[in-house]
Amino acid sequence: MKVAFATLGCRVNMYETEAMSELFIKEGHEIIPFNKIADVYIINTCTVTNMGDKKSRQMINRARRKNENAVIAVVGCYSQIAPKEISSIEGVDIVLGTRNKSKIVHYVNRFIEEKKQIIKVDDVLHNKIFDDLNIEEYQYKTRAFLKIQDGCNRFCSYCLIPYARGAVCSKEPKKVIEEVHKLAEHGFKEIILSGIHIASYGFELKGNWNLIKILEEVNNVEGIERIRIGSIDPTFFTEDVIKNISHMDKMCPHFHLSLQSGCDETLKRMNRRYSTSEYRTVVQNLRKHIKDISITTDIIVGFPGETDYEFNKTYEFLKEIELSKMHIFKYSPRSGTKAAKMQCQVDGKVKDIRSHKLIELNEKLEKQFMQKYIGRNMEVLYEQKSKEHEGYYEGYTPNYIRVLSKMNDDVFIGKVLPTKLHNVDKEFMYGTINF
Ligand code: SF4
Repeated sequence: MKVAFATLGCRVNMYETEAMSELFIKEGHEIIPFNKIADVYIINTCTVTNMGDKKSRQMINRARRKNENAVIAVVGCYSQIAPKEISSIEGVDIVLGTRNKSKIVHYVNRFIEEKKQIIKVDDVLHNKIFDDLNIEEYQYKTRAFLKIQDGCNRFCSYCLIPYARGAVCSKEPKKVIEEVHKLAEHGFKEIILSGIHIASYGFELKGNWNLIKILEEVNNVEGIERIRIGSIDPTFFTEDVIKNISHMDKMCPHFHLSLQSGCDETLKRMNRRYSTSEYRTVVQNLRKHIKDISITTDIIVGFPGETDYEFNKTYEFLKEIELSKMHIFKYSPRSGTKAAKMQCQVDGKVKDIRSHKLIELNEKLEKQFMQKYIGRNMEVLYEQKSKEHEGYYEGYTPNYIRVLSKMNDDVFIGKVLPTKLHNVDKEFMYGTINF
């Protein structure tokens, strides 16, 4: 069969789509682009915003218009939250929740045999079983994502993910290590361990497993040169944890610590479980123990009730702690969350102004961070040919500075090469490889 995927949302979803594609390939099927005529369309949905739901519905309709005889399977977060709504959309044959993706081939085959709509959505809030999906072949053999954790029990007031992804569950440590070995044998140099709330890794497992313990194991795998972790809760970083991490030679000095707001009152309404002073301490400790550390973050502006006074507090806090990159998001109410029902929703124009102010601050801080590396020699893992800059190849330093260097051909892709960094150009730096 010809099978086409559409993926919405986060990196975890992208990982799971890759893994589902491999399951079809193993059974002898072919993966084709979503805009072609396929026998099976799989839409891996996102529900993090109302827009995610809308886009998911658009993809379902697009698939139906392409081939009305195709099998249409809708999987993922939106299916988990609203299975009835999805199953009533014309043309939808299969609806699977977030913990049923590993059986996708089975359900497609069953539908073809029985021609009866299938809805399989488990109660994820009480399910602590990790839905094991693996990836063995990647398009680019430089860095590989590895999903080791699913679910979240934090219940931030603006977020629906704990209901879509369910209770915390973790990939068995033995399987994590086996998969990292396999990826190293396939030539990968860098592993990015990811999850929905990765700081909770091991929470429900026997044997006192936690993120630090699994990182230590991954750090011992030969062939892997770099380890990164996805976006992580700042409360994970106690001083002891930071000291432990600073002794892992493959751990990259780059952490994405979601802050969301630099004002304690706003953080409280968001139900984030830290204060700005705790966040500041984490940043200071990371800088104290880890050389060349880069700390990046996400910020939401215009959260319900955010006054000028509160926004200014965020602005001043961000100016003070000088992170190396910030992703700025304008708050958009997600129906079904506490925040969507809060009084004092912020006007769209005010959100625009605040977001603009923070984007400007980010540009300044990002540039300031990169300028410190002018003239420095850094190890760069080259990943691909630059699409916008003819004759250049691009890669990342351990602390996640994007670097563009001139090369004659692509034999150096997948290699870590010492590179002298020159000037800063918006979001990247130019470099020269020192052979
Ligand atoms: S930590 Fe908060 S924002 Fe992140 S997935 Fe959990 S509830 Fe959502």
